[in-house]
Amino acid sequence: MNVPVWNPAIEFMEREALERVQLAGLRKTVAWALKTPFYRHRLAGIGLKHPEDIVDLRDLRSIPYTTKDDLREAYPSGLLAVEPERTVRLHTSSGTTGTPTVIYHSRQDLDCWTELVARCIVAAGATAHDVFQNMTGYGLFTGGLGLHYGAERVGMLVIPASSGNTSRQLQLMKNFRTTVVHATPSYLLHLHASLAEEGISLDQLGLRKAFIGAEPHSEQTRRKIEDLFRIDAYNSYGLSEMNGPGVAFECVHKTGLHLWEDAFILEIIDPRTLQSLPEGETGEIVMTTLQRQATPLLRYRTRDLSHLVGGNCPCGRTHRRLARIKGRSDDMLIVNGVNVFPSQIEDVLMKVPEVGTNYLIQLEKRGSLDRLVVKAEICAKLFTGDPRTLDDLCERIGELLRSAVLVKPTVELHEPGSLPVSEGKAKRVVDLRPAF
Ligand code: AMP
Ligand code: ZN
Repeated sequence: MNVPVWNPAIEFMEREALERVQLAGLRKTVAWALKTPFYRHRLAGIGLKHPEDIVDLRDLRSIPYTTKDDLREAYPSGLLAVEPERTVRLHTSSGTTGTPTVIYHSRQDLDCWTELVARCIVAAGATAHDVFQNMTGYGLFTGGLGLHYGAERVGMLVIPASSGNTSRQLQLMKNFRTTVVHATPSYLLHLHASLAEEGISLDQLGLRKAFIGAEPHSEQTRRKIEDLFRIDAYNSYGLSEMNGPGVAFECVHKTGLHLWEDAFILEIIDPRTLQSLPEGETGEIVMTTLQRQATPLLRYRTRDLSHLVGGNCPCGRTHRRLARIKGRSDDMLIVNGVNVFPSQIEDVLMKVPEVGTNYLIQLEKRGSLDRLVVKAEICAKLFTGDPRTLDDLCERIGELLRSAVLVKPTVELHEPGSLPVSEGKAKRVVDLRPAF
C-alpha cells in the first residue's frame, strides 16, 4: 500500500487490537486519575476505587463527564496526577482570564503528543524534505509548540515564525522556499490578500500544503485557500485539554479527520440528554485521554459539535474519522482563532464606571479576518457627549479588552437607552460572519 505513514503498526491496527490498547490505556488512566484529588473524590462517588474495576470498555459509561468548569474548579493543581518534579511543561487554553484551565505534561506526555503530531503531518503527505513554517502563536497556546515538536520529529526544517507580522511571514516563505505552513484559515486568507502589497507573486513561493485549524471553517473556505495558493489544505483539530493539535487530522484523501484512538476514546453525545449518539448523528465530542500521566481526563466534554464518518478511508487507517467541526454548544466565540467568552467582555465593561448596563458584542468579517465590535451604552449620569472624552474612553476600554481577551476590539459608545433591549433572556452576541 503506497500511503505515507508514520507508525503503520498503530495506524493500521485491527479494531479488536486497538480496543485492547484502549482498555489497557483506560485502566492506566483511571490509576493516574485516582492520584488526583479531583478524581479521587469524583470516582469515589461511583464506587470506583481501583483501576481493575474497569473490566470492559463499556465500563467507561458509568464514569461521570468532566466539564470545563470542573477543570476551572480544580485549578491550579487539583488534576495533577504526578509529583510536581515530574512535570516539564504546562499549557492553558487560549483567551481565558480569571481562572484558566491548565494541563500539565510530563516528559513522557510530551513524547506521546509529539508522536501523534508526527503521524498527522505524515498522513497529510508532508515529509522530512519539507520546509515547515509554523504561523501559529508560540506560548501558552498549543498550536505553536505542539506542531513544532511533531514537525521536528518528522525531520522537517522548521521555521518557528509564530503568528502575525505578515510581511515577515511572506519574506520567510520566499527566502527559505517554505513548502508547508500551519495557520488558522482566516490568517491564510489574509496572507494571500497581502501578497500583492508585498510585491510577491505565488511563483516566488514554493508552497504545496497548509495545515489549517484552531477555528471553525467551511469546506468552501478550504477550497478557497487551495485555489488561491494552488496547494492542498488539511483540516487539523485539537484542543489544549487533549494536548492541542494532533488529536484528529485529515489524511491525503480528505474524507474526515482521523482521530488517534490509541490515545483518546471518542464518544459523541447529545448535549441535552447526554446519551451516546450513533455514527452519522451530530452531537458533542467527548474524549478520554489514554496516554497522559500528568493530567488524565475522563470523558471530557469538549463542547465541539461533529459526527462520526462511516465507512473506511481509502488510506487504510483504522482510526475513525470525525466530520468537520460544525460549531460549539456553548457560548464561546472564536475570533481569528482565539477563544473569547462573552462573559470576559462583560466583566471588563462592567468594571468601567462610565459604561451603562447594556452592551452588544458583534462579530463581522472584514476581508478574511474576523472583526470584534463591542458596543456599549454610556452611563446616563456621565454622558456629556463631548467627543474628545468619548474618544479617550473608547481607547481605554479597547485597551482593557485587548489585555483581557487577547483580541483588539473596535469599541463603539452609544447613548443611554439606544441599544436594543430584548425581552426575556438578553441577546448579547450578534454574529454577522457568514454561516457555512
Ligand atoms: P484551545 O484549547 O484554546 O486550543 O481551543 C480549542 C478549540 O478550538 C476547540 O475546542 C475548537 O472549538 C476549536 N478548534 C480547534 N481546531 C478546530 C478545527 N479544525 N475546526 C474547528 N474548530 C477548531
Ligand atoms: Zn485516511
